[in-house]
Amino acid sequence: MPEGHKTHYLAREHNRRYAGERLEVSSPQGRFSEGANAVSGHVLESVRASGKHLFYEFEGNRIVHIHLGRYGSYAEQTSPPEPPVGQVRLRMVSQTLTLDLRGPSQCRLIDRETQQSVLDSLGPDPLDGGDRAEVWAAISKSSKPIGGLLLEQAVVAGVGNIFRAEVLFEIGLDPRLPGAKLSKIQFNELWKSLVKMMKLGLKHGRIITVTAKEAGKPLKDLEDHERFRVYGKALCPRCDANIVVESIASRKMHWCPGCQIGSQSAGQEC
Ligand SMILES: [Zn+2]
Repeated sequence: MPEGHKTHYLAREHNRRYAGERLEVSSPQGRFSEGANAVSGHVLESVRASGKHLFYEFEGNRIVHIHLGRYGSYAEQTSPPEPPVGQVRLRMVSQTLTLDLRGPSQCRLIDRETQQSVLDSLGPDPLDGGDRAEVWAAISKSSKPIGGLLLEQAVVAGVGNIFRAEVLFEIGLDPRLPGAKLSKIQFNELWKSLVKMMKLGLKHGRIITVTAKEAGKPLKDLEDHERFRVYGKALCPRCDANIVVESIASRKMHWCPGCQIGSQSAGQEC
């Protein structure tokens, strides 16, 4: 599932290529025909990301709200486009480019008020200057495991299954540790690591958590299976122990019981 780095990356790219243009919008598959008609022929003013949500803001208070969910993906081609192939929910055509969206979990027409209610439901977004203190306030009073809290979009927006595993591995923290047991020092390390990883993901358009030194090659040359330290791995790259796969907050969490302890120093500083 695309995490926050991806939505911000898409917003930046789509802003650059489509904003300011009068777009021809349709729903070849038919499931978004009414919404598409409402914005077709209107100027796309901007594209904005918050957490895992994308907003295509058209003139006249008309916003297309997208959540890619697990299967949503975009494909681009030059205009005029070829006839649509497969289940294209949304097609946006500019003078030069055509963008097709398939398989989103959400694609709907909303107004500013509804957009604001979506934004209000989200916690701080590390890629959008999100307030670290607000995230700490939510985590430090919760008895839920930190591995689960990181997936709650109302706690922190944009973090998914890969970032949560990789961040907790980097700082050596047991994902089962209740939020309230984290020390402020541990939380600060977590936040720093998260912001760094998400920014790197935004830069490259994909999540990369290894360093070039660890990988033995430039980051841009990494194969998909070389990008992570612990997610989807069988052995820990630090201690060679078997990686544990455990369900936390109903999603598979990869972690190393040898390296991720972290509870000893908890509570030393408040
Ligand atoms: Zn280990």
